[in-house]
Amino acid sequence: MMKNDKKAWYLQLHWQVLLALGLGTVFGVIAPGWSENQGFLGDLFLRALMMVIILLIFTSLVDGVASLGSARSVGRVGFRTTVYYSCSTAAAILVGMTAVNLIRPGEGLELAGATSLPEGFSTSSQTLSEFLLRMVPDNIVGAMAEGAVLPVITFAILFGLFLAKLDGERVKDVHRLVTGVLEVIQALTLGIVKLAPVGIFSLLAREVARSGVSIFRELGWYFLTVGLGLTFHAVVTLPILLWFLGRRSPVAYFRAAAPALATAFSTASSSATLPLTMECAEHRAGLPKSVSSFVLPLGATVNMDGTALYEAVAALTIAQMYGVNLSFSEQAVVLLTALLASVGAAGIPMAGLVMLVVVLEAVGLPLEGIATIIAVDRVLDMFRTATNVWSDMVGTAVVARFEEAGD
Ligand code: ASP
Repeated sequence: MMKNDKKAWYLQLHWQVLLALGLGTVFGVIAPGWSENQGFLGDLFLRALMMVIILLIFTSLVDGVASLGSARSVGRVGFRTTVYYSCSTAAAILVGMTAVNLIRPGEGLELAGATSLPEGFSTSSQTLSEFLLRMVPDNIVGAMAEGAVLPVITFAILFGLFLAKLDGERVKDVHRLVTGVLEVIQALTLGIVKLAPVGIFSLLAREVARSGVSIFRELGWYFLTVGLGLTFHAVVTLPILLWFLGRRSPVAYFRAAAPALATAFSTASSSATLPLTMECAEHRAGLPKSVSSFVLPLGATVNMDGTALYEAVAALTIAQMYGVNLSFSEQAVVLLTALLASVGAAGIPMAGLVMLVVVLEAVGLPLEGIATIIAVDRVLDMFRTATNVWSDMVGTAVVARFEEAGD
């Protein structure tokens, strides 16, 4: 199943991306000026990925839903996906809350002295009804042009459902056309994936050059708390789910997922990583297309375990920093809003930080606290995005196994 296994190690994509991660870090530290300048190579890689996303999401979802055949099968896969996504995200938040209550990183933190919100943040967080409205596009071409993933997903699911429902030659032609476009887009994606090691190296070297190491000094404990929480979730919780529910070896599966995880890490965007995630799931891990084409586009948009964990840790760190003791019920509100914020966050860099407003507002914490933790956010974003994508991959294996078992 793992296609690359017969090649020499340096020709295998997962080793190439791991090497790119290592070299990117080293070059970012020893040659920051050069690393800044070559960053456009990474941007090229990123743009190539963004180029295929909307068509890939649309065609693969339509094809996936249409091949599932009926609203009943789609409902079953949808239900299983939702159950996995909610449980894994809730588990991630609990891990984060435990870590922040044990380590208490906020207690030693100084306020950044900000009296207003950093630029780009708005206090009018999105209500549930607004979120639901946003899911249904009023103009599908407009939604595609803006790259708004959620409304495109809604339309693609509906399109696929009705495609499966109708009969006749013309309808079959439409299905054939969609499948044909999907095949071409996937072949194109495969070409882009080959550039992943270069793209990853370039993006990471620039990021390391920009961040420097000094920012970690003051926020070290906070950084460590999020990092430990994410690591625990990624190497303990998710592999346990994968092993028991997905019946797969975590090590082999991790190797199959490595290119997607490294891309998530260096781009800090689950959406941009989606073409690679789908490629890894289908071709490297051998998961059925009917499941991955449904579970993954949805996951890249709504399933963000890493982001949810981070929301909870950041909110509780800010509470500790202000000396606010949150009661049990207030912590429950943090859990719930962190979950909603992670669902609402777009799969783009730093979306989680913007959604933190929702969590802080829900428990009445000062939004200015964001100014203190913002310095390390981009780096944390890389770790949480990799965790987000890992959870999507694990979810696909779990849902696929239940589908295969036919129960
Ligand atoms: N960058 C994350 C993602 O794309 C979202 C976040 O900012 O937490 O998955």
